[in-house]
Amino acid sequence: MSHVEAGLAGARPVPVWWEGHDVGAVTEPLTGDRTADLVVVGAGLTGLWAAITALESDPGRTVVLLEAAHVASGASGRNGGFVSESLTHGLAHGHAMWPDELATLQRLGRENVQEIDDFVAAEKIDADLRLCGKTTMATRGHEVEALRSMHELHQRHGERSVLLSGEQARADVRSPTYLAGLRTHSGGLVDPLALTTGLRDAAVRRGAVLHEETPVVDLQRAGNRVLCRTPRGSVRADQVVLATNAFPPLLRRIRAFVLPVWDHVLATEPLTSTQLESIGWSDRQGLTDAGNQFHYYRRTADDRIVWGGYDAIYYFGNDTSAGRGQREASYRLLAEQFYATFPQLDEVSMTHRWAGVIDTTSRFTPVFGTAHGGRVAYAVGYTGLGVASSRFGARIALDLLGGLDTERTDLSMVRRRPVPFPPEPVRWAAVQTTRAALARQDISGRRGGLLRTMDRFGVGFNS
Ligand SMILES: Cc1cc2nc3c(=O)[nH]c(=O)nc-3n(C[C@H](O)[C@H](O)[C@H](O)COP(=O)(O)OP(=O)(O)OC[C@H]3O[C@@H](n4cnc5c(N)ncnc54)[C@H](O)[C@@H]3O)c2cc1C
Repeated sequence: MSHVEAGLAGARPVPVWWEGHDVGAVTEPLTGDRTADLVVVGAGLTGLWAAITALESDPGRTVVLLEAAHVASGASGRNGGFVSESLTHGLAHGHAMWPDELATLQRLGRENVQEIDDFVAAEKIDADLRLCGKTTMATRGHEVEALRSMHELHQRHGERSVLLSGEQARADVRSPTYLAGLRTHSGGLVDPLALTTGLRDAAVRRGAVLHEETPVVDLQRAGNRVLCRTPRGSVRADQVVLATNAFPPLLRRIRAFVLPVWDHVLATEPLTSTQLESIGWSDRQGLTDAGNQFHYYRRTADDRIVWGGYDAIYYFGNDTSAGRGQREASYRLLAEQFYATFPQLDEVSMTHRWAGVIDTTSRFTPVFGTAHGGRVAYAVGYTGLGVASSRFGARIALDLLGGLDTERTDLSMVRRRPVPFPPEPVRWAAVQTTRAALARQDISGRRGGLLRTMDRFGVGFNS
């Protein structure tokens, strides 16, 4: 058995966050027919923030949350727990896409994270939320220059960051692969399961009625209301928020804008004090590397390392079926890259491996809109950066339902839609071609013709 195979041999196919928790449905499925002022479809972070916000603005409202599986079964209970202030998938991407609104977007993103922090403290949600920032590491020669440009951009836009030489980066976190680093102090880390279940409890305390194991199978206009059908019942609602992320959407138009991509993650066993000493990393900040295909990694409260990303996979026909989450090749590649980054941890075993679906749009930020005469609103497409921005997305969906003109709804990001993805089979081919072009840029440092053309049309990833 190879070293990598041995390291993976005992890894269980379940998110490390779920370890020691009784994860599953805590409420009964909906049976029978009822009415509500607001139905929220999907009880991940977006849906839960939507329910909480709606009840805070009008505590008398009847809010019903319908969840196909259980709270935190989707991306919200499986992610890396990086809490980002950015609403634009990074400053560089925001600068390329919405330069005139960037200052507003930065401020709104800062306020959003501050308000999440305040809420978590006020509700006493024990989610290990730490605003410790992160460091982006260059591991290829050309990425050093890219970090320098990113640093300059941060300076110009008032974001505090420190450029680290290779020696400084390696002194902070001891990996021989680091050639430079960019330490930023905004955002932080959270335990995603604890955050999501904490929000569930906060929503229920405020009066939301939650039904798990209750997929909405159909959405129909019924006079002045919208009928949400489920396998054993229905809810007739004045308004509906769709917070269904990358899962098969209830509106055909969402299918054109959102593409489900599988992301894979590993977690190590808890490190011993000697192993911890061998890697340094005393700030316990989040880490990422600087390529298009990048790893995100972090320490947990019990001193494991969670190591994810890099190998995002799209399956033909938007396949989100659970079996897709067990792609051995992706876990092997991740493990190889982990041991190459931290050769001093070659004795450390992986205890967990899991995957989740990321809702990707062609502009890497969510798409918002309404349907059924303004009675249904949606917020989907966070493209792997929704732990914090899902709260912002939920607020936009509620603003749209209320017909409100707010600073949020005035953003171009809300008023304009991303370029739609083509239907299959062109969709699959386009994704593979783009992935190959991004991988080539990672190796050569040069942005090829295809990517430059896409940049001009506001498609793809500029950061
Ligand atoms: C592996 C992974 C790592 C990630 N890491 C990070 C990170 O470190 N930082 C970050 O900011 N973001 C990260 N993300 C992205 C982040 O997790 C998501 O953007 C965020 O959780 C989205 O929340 P959501 O509520 O919109 O979606 P979800 O949490 O997926 O919730 C959607 C819910 O809708 C339910 N649903 C779907 N269809 C129906 C239906 N018809 N009826 C009823 N219910 C339905 C689903 O069961 C699901 O529970 C990561 C994502 C993944 C998969």
